[in-house]
Amino acid sequence: QINKRLTKVSEYLNHNKLADIGSDHAYLPIYAIQKGLINKAIAGEVVKGPFLAAQQNTKTYGMTDSIEVKLGNGLEVIDETIDVITICGMGGPLIAQIIEEGQHKLNEYPDLILQANIHALPIRQVLQKIGYKIYDEQLIKDKKHIYEILVAKKGTMLLDEKEMRFGPILLKNKSDLFYEKWQRELESLNKISKQLEHHDDQIRYNEINQQILQIKEVLK
Ligand code: SAM
Repeated sequence: QINKRLTKVSEYLNHNKLADIGSDHAYLPIYAIQKGLINKAIAGEVVKGPFLAAQQNTKTYGMTDSIEVKLGNGLEVIDETIDVITICGMGGPLIAQIIEEGQHKLNEYPDLILQANIHALPIRQVLQKIGYKIYDEQLIKDKKHIYEILVAKKGTMLLDEKEMRFGPILLKNKSDLFYEKWQRELESLNKISKQLEHHDDQIRYNEINQQILQIKEVLK
């Protein structure tokens, strides 16, 4: 059994071959194979410890024929046709960086299921830049933390500033969790703004206040 967050991610899987990047214990590919959501997987890890854990778990579950565990940075572990890539449990900037640096591995436009712990804005920017369109977005609350899931496929989109920050689909739906997430964000930005009042970083201060106004407008 995997946690609520990864279970939600798995609901978007219905593919032949998955590449799970930053797989850690390889829980997601193991679960997806058990449930028949995918046939094969690559589990990529850049750090030795999690890589060894993924290898061990794959053995324990008797899945060494269907899951290939690879040590490597980001998308560099992909060297064949992949139908879907998952990148989960990281901050948005790191996910965006992995996609941007591995762009040349996306020639065949596998589907992307991306789960950001925080700050998904740079993910949307990079998706738009490289020819992906967001088809679904979800917020999910697990042990008090609110996570974002973005599902993208080959396509074009042109998001405005608000859609980039809040998510085109999340913004349209404005669920209770959406209000909760941005209310929290607003409170922490208000704190930062107060602290900056007494410093002379005027640019940062204005930037934060700009964000505060934008959130207030969306929460109205
Ligand atoms: N994906 C799992 C999940 O959602 O539960 C594990 C999340 S864990 C917090 C993040 C993992 O990503 C770590 O094991 C870390 O070593 C790995 N990671 C970070 N940067 C990476 C990169 N550039 N390439 C591959 N793996 C990376």
